[in-house]
Amino acid sequence: MIGKSIMKVGEGLLQKPATLEFPEQREELTDNYRGIHKLDIKTCISCAACARICPNQTIDMVDIETEKGTKKMPLVNLERCLFCALCEEVCPPKCLILTKDYSFEAFDRREYIKRPEDLG
Ligand code: SF4
Ligand code: SF4
Repeated sequence: MIGKSIMKVGEGLLQKPATLEFPEQREELTDNYRGIHKLDIKTCISCAACARICPNQTIDMVDIETEKGTKKMPLVNLERCLFCALCEEVCPPKCLILTKDYSFEAFDRREYIKRPEDLG
């Protein structure tokens, strides 16, 4: 009985650690993983299709200054996001995509509200 227990402890010591040294080590993600949005401001046509399709009113169209003047672009509130990717699906120029980035830890809830400039 004691021998078996010692064997078990020995096995445990030889095994690789079950946890990762976050943030230096990151989990391998599946191909269809959906993380934080990325927006290409230069190709967004301000059509608001992403805001209209969003099932959780996560996207607001806000003014931003561009080389071509003031334009409306999506602001994303990650606190409300379901990561369903409908906004990505409907975007005509495919300038709004969901990346594999899942690092959006924050000290303040307001940091979850991402203006178009923050989604680059
Ligand atoms: S992923 Fe879904 S819930 Fe999140 S902003 Fe896009 S449409 Fe809305
Ligand atoms: S991100 Fe895409 S869907 Fe949203 S306003 Fe820009 S072009 Fe339209």
